[in-house]
Amino acid sequence: PPLYMQRYMAIQEIIEHSIWNGSIKKVVDFGCSEIGLFKCIKLIPGLNNIMAVDVNFNILNRNQFKVVPTNYDHISMHERKEPLTVDIYNGSIADQDNRMLEIYAVICIELIEHLYMDILDSLPSTVFEYIRPKLAVFTTPNVEFHILFPNFTTEFRRHFRPEKNSRNEYAVQFDGIGAGPPGTENIGCCSQMAIFYRKDMKTSSVTSIGSTPYKLLRRVNYPYE
Ligand code: SAM
Repeated sequence: PPLYMQRYMAIQEIIEHSIWNGSIKKVVDFGCSEIGLFKCIKLIPGLNNIMAVDVNFNILNRNQFKVVPTNYDHISMHERKEPLTVDIYNGSIADQDNRMLEIYAVICIELIEHLYMDILDSLPSTVFEYIRPKLAVFTTPNVEFHILFPNFTTEFRRHFRPEKNSRNEYAVQFDGIGAGPPGTENIGCCSQMAIFYRKDMKTSSVTSIGSTPYKLLRRVNYPYE
């Protein structure tokens, strides 16, 4: 499968088969762009809320139809039995929104290399101190593969070591997606992936900040009436 599909499949696998098997209820896909990940995660058992967030209104607007059930979804064998709410929001990962409370998994596929430094700097606190998900997955191009992003691996590791208080709360694992041709094993894969697991299994007690800067563009409920 093409690389983007390999990334989606890796994310699906992580959410579905993580140590929280079946207990990941709410997921946010930051920088969702064309809302491509959705089709790969919508059938995950236990999931009841997917938030797709992007700063680019036009991309969301053009692709919002993708969250509407297809004919395939109506074939009884594939029909979703458990309720699922899909929300498309126009907003930036730099802003904290109350509706992020109780998010179990944060997904950022090929997002961080597109962020300005100030936004990148604020991201660890939004994710690890405000949202405090059980699982956070980041993918980004591998510097050795993509010479367009010099020193990115170092930057990536520097920025994504959760800061201060949250430092000991997460365990991190690095992985790769999209192996190169034989003989290039030493440079690693096309995309690199960092998977953070919160060590503490308790549900986080996040305090409401009473602010909702994200703009809801579309909400679809499954099963679809
Ligand atoms: N995640 C997508 C996927 O897997 O198909 C691809 C991401 S695309 C390469 C990068 C996206 O990040 C763009 O759609 C862009 O609008 C979005 N983006 C850039 N800055 C952002 C921010 N501060 N908050 C949320 N999304 C942002």
